Amino acid sequence: MKNQCGWIALADTSPSREHLAGSQKADWLIIGAGITGLCAAHSLAEMHPQARIVIVDRQRAAQGASARNSGFAVAHENPATSELLGRSGFAGYQLDSSIGLAASQEVRTRIARHSIECEYRDSGYYFAVNDPDKLQQIEAKLQTLNAVGASAQFVQGPQLAQKLGTEHYTAAIWCGNGNALLQPAKYVKGLLDALPDAVSLYENTAISSLERMSNGLIRANSPNGNVEAKQVLVCLNAFIPRAGISHSHTFAMELSASLTRPLTDQEFAALGSVEPWGVLSTRPLGATVRLTPDRRVMIRNTAEYRTKDLSESNLLKRREHHAVGLQRRFPGLSVRDIQYTWTGHLSASRSGQPYFASVQPGIFAVAGCNGSGLARGSLWGRLLAELASGASSPLLQSVMERAQPGWLPPRPFFDIGAAVRMRVEAIRARTEI
Ligand SMILES: Cc1cc2nc3c(=O)[nH]c(=O)nc-3n(C[C@H](O)[C@H](O)[C@H](O)COP(=O)(O)OP(=O)(O)OC[C@H]3O[C@@H](n4cnc5c(N)ncnc54)[C@H](O)[C@@H]3O)c2cc1C
Repeated sequence: MKNQCGWIALADTSPSREHLAGSQKADWLIIGAGITGLCAAHSLAEMHPQARIVIVDRQRAAQGASARNSGFAVAHENPATSELLGRSGFAGYQLDSSIGLAASQEVRTRIARHSIECEYRDSGYYFAVNDPDKLQQIEAKLQTLNAVGASAQFVQGPQLAQKLGTEHYTAAIWCGNGNALLQPAKYVKGLLDALPDAVSLYENTAISSLERMSNGLIRANSPNGNVEAKQVLVCLNAFIPRAGISHSHTFAMELSASLTRPLTDQEFAALGSVEPWGVLSTRPLGATVRLTPDRRVMIRNTAEYRTKDLSESNLLKRREHHAVGLQRRFPGLSVRDIQYTWTGHLSASRSGQPYFASVQPGIFAVAGCNGSGLARGSLWGRLLAELASGASSPLLQSVMERAQPGWLPPRPFFDIGAAVRMRVEAIRARTEI
């Protein structure tokens, strides 16, 4: 079966660009043309209008995780018990939320500045559960979210069913003020299409190594050419080891998602009077679900630590798993109503915090989006450009202070630990897939 991202299929395609050939020189090289790399390119071009900026991507630009994600622009995460108001982790949560709010503002600013049509809806989303036990300490959560500038409300029972058009969810915290939904492939394509002329983009150009030249420049090698640059920004997310950075304390996860055909007028009317919505699970392996503005249902209910990409037959099984989740929410839908199924890779860390660093003179890198890199990646791109340009700001300092991804055991111990943890999380999320 075809691994085809519905968001990409439903967005127009940008004209293709050539691959890198021969030797090039640049002031700045950005590796990876996803949200982070493209935002870094825009920021560098704004800060250094005379500079030669090159950006390369291993495949078509703007078609990696940045186009394949679920489209939640996250300002506020669901607070963990240790992060509740009055607990020891609250100060960190507060700082993360201020970064998240700045990140969601960055998305809004980019959309406005480049007039990006991406079905952006600034109307919040839900942390919702099927099993009420999966949403505990509701009062404390509402207080915590409201204390960090979110607008949070508890919704349950018939009121929730009316909002979502399904009785599957029993309780939820709706969270607004910064949290938004968008069509991810259209957002990242908008960033790509708006690149200024000062930025040269090469597609289908896989960087395989970085080497320091005797003249101090950094040479990035690809099969058909190389770029010698004064400064390099590595924006590879899950693929950061491909630039030879193996100490980021992040690891790749593979996720899969499906998008249905549009609901018919009759099916849509049967839901009642519903607006497009998005639901995040309170469990890491629970389902992310959306009802889109064009009346499709998107579901993402797998996340796996794998050492090999999913095969076609495995993807078919994931699609069936998506169909189970769909039917729980909308019994009229079946696997036959799924139009697109795809995979994507994200970069995770043990602490939930990113790797954001000056790796060595002239090389800067970020990874570890932990599933909320749509907004954070937009901000990190700009902040990485600022860091590399020698600029400083309180926001950059906050991001660097929080950038502690946590220690990971060496393989194969990590592989074993990850497999066990995923199994436990899958059991805990059973009611929420
Ligand atoms: C299914 C799914 C759902 C998600 N849902 C959400 C969500 O709702 N909200 C949210 O905030 N985040 C979500 N995420 C995470 C989000 O997609 C990422 O955090 C975000 O896209 C990171 O952007 P990026 O530019 O850093 O990385 P990417 O988009 O991964 O870009 C990295 C680029 O590097 C390129 N590359 C790889 N190797 C090389 C090489 N050797 N040389 C050159 N280029 C290379 C890739 O082709 C890719 O284009 C989700 C992720 C997935 C997979």
